[in-house]
Amino acid sequence: MIRTNPPRAFAKPWVEWCAKQIDDPVSRLKFLRSVTPLDVHRPWRRRWQYGMAAIVLMAILGSFLIARTTTRVKPVKAAARTAPVYQPPAASPAPPVWMVEKSAESETYSNGLRIDTRFEAPNHPRGYLAFPAGRPDDSAGVHRTAPAGIVFHTTESRQLPFEASANGALKEVGEGLIGFVCRRHAYHYLIDRFGRVYRIVPESDAADHAGYSVWSDDEWLYVNLNESFLGISFETKTEPGQEDPAVTPAQIRSAAMLTEMLRRRYIIPAGNCVTHAQVSVNPDNMRVGYHTDWASSFPFAQLGLPDNYARPLPAMVTFGFEYDETFAKRAGTRLYAGVELAEEELARDAAGRPVAELRKELRKRYRARLAEAMRREEAGR
Ligand SMILES: [Zn+2]
Repeated sequence: MIRTNPPRAFAKPWVEWCAKQIDDPVSRLKFLRSVTPLDVHRPWRRRWQYGMAAIVLMAILGSFLIARTTTRVKPVKAAARTAPVYQPPAASPAPPVWMVEKSAESETYSNGLRIDTRFEAPNHPRGYLAFPAGRPDDSAGVHRTAPAGIVFHTTESRQLPFEASANGALKEVGEGLIGFVCRRHAYHYLIDRFGRVYRIVPESDAADHAGYSVWSDDEWLYVNLNESFLGISFETKTEPGQEDPAVTPAQIRSAAMLTEMLRRRYIIPAGNCVTHAQVSVNPDNMRVGYHTDWASSFPFAQLGLPDNYARPLPAMVTFGFEYDETFAKRAGTRLYAGVELAEEELARDAAGRPVAELRKELRKRYRARLAEAMRREEAGR
C-alpha cells in the first residue's frame, strides 16, 4: 500500500489561511498550484516556487482589495447621479399678532391690519378630512374644522388706471366687486386696489374658492381646499405666463399683515400658503391647472413666505394628475419648475416601472380619498 501524505505546502497554516481569503475558486486553485507540489530535491526550484507563490498571492489579494474598495464607493456614485429631492424651505414662524379692537364694522390688529366686516356673509361651517401623507394605502382621513392653509386668488375683474383722477371710478368698481363675491361666497377675504381688506365669508365657514383642489404638506394630504383652506383674493387681473405681480404696494402690505395674522391664529405652515394655479385640478380629465390665477407672479417673499413655486406639484406626485399644453403655456417659468420637479419625482418613485403604471395606482388612491371626503362632508351637513 502506498501511503500518500498531503503536500508540504498544503500542510503550512499560512497557505491555508491565504487560500481561505480567496473567494474565487479559479484564483484559489492558481494560488495553490503555485505553491505545490514543491520539489524538495531541488532547492533552487523550491525558492523559485515560493517566489512565484508570493507574487500570485499579492496579485490576487491586491485585486480583492481593489474590488472591495470599488464596491464601497458605488452607492455614492449612484446617489450623485439621481435628481435632487425637494427640501421644504425653512419657514420663519409667524410673529405674535393679536386683536386690538373690534366694532360692529371692523377689526384692528396689533400688526396694523384692519378688516372691514360690514359685508360678511355666512356660508356653511367648515369640516373636512385630512389624509396622512406617507401612508398611501391607509386612506382613513382625520376630521378637522380649523383651516390648514391659504389659497391666494385674483379676481380677474375690470381694471382701471390706478391714479388719483380715477378715484371715484376705482371705488365704484371695487364696491361692485364686493357685492359680486359676497353673493357667491367666493372667498374669505378680498383686498381691493387701495389695500382695504374685506371679510367676505367668516373664517369658521367654507368658501367656494378652490373646489376640489389638491395640496399636501409633509404630514397631510388635502383633497377639497374649499373646505380645508382659506381663500384670499386680490382685486387684479393677470396674463398667462406673467411673472411680475400686477398689484399695488398697498395690496402687498395688507396681504402680508393678513397672512401673518391668519398664520398665527391657526398655526398655518408657510408651505401651505399657495396660489390657486398650484392647487387647481380637474378630476374629470385628471389634469392640473383648471384655474391658473397667480400662475407665476405671486410675491411670496414680500409676504414673508418661502418660494412655494419651487415645490413639486402635489397633485401630480401624490395623485397622478398630468398637465397639458395649455397649462404649460399659462404656467410661466416659476410654476412650470414645480411641474418639472414633479415629473422627476414621479420617475424616481416609479423605480424602473413605467410611470403610466404608477400614475394609474395614484389615481385610484385619489378617487378613493375624494369619495371618502365627499361622503364625510355630505354626512356632516
Ligand atoms: Zn382663483
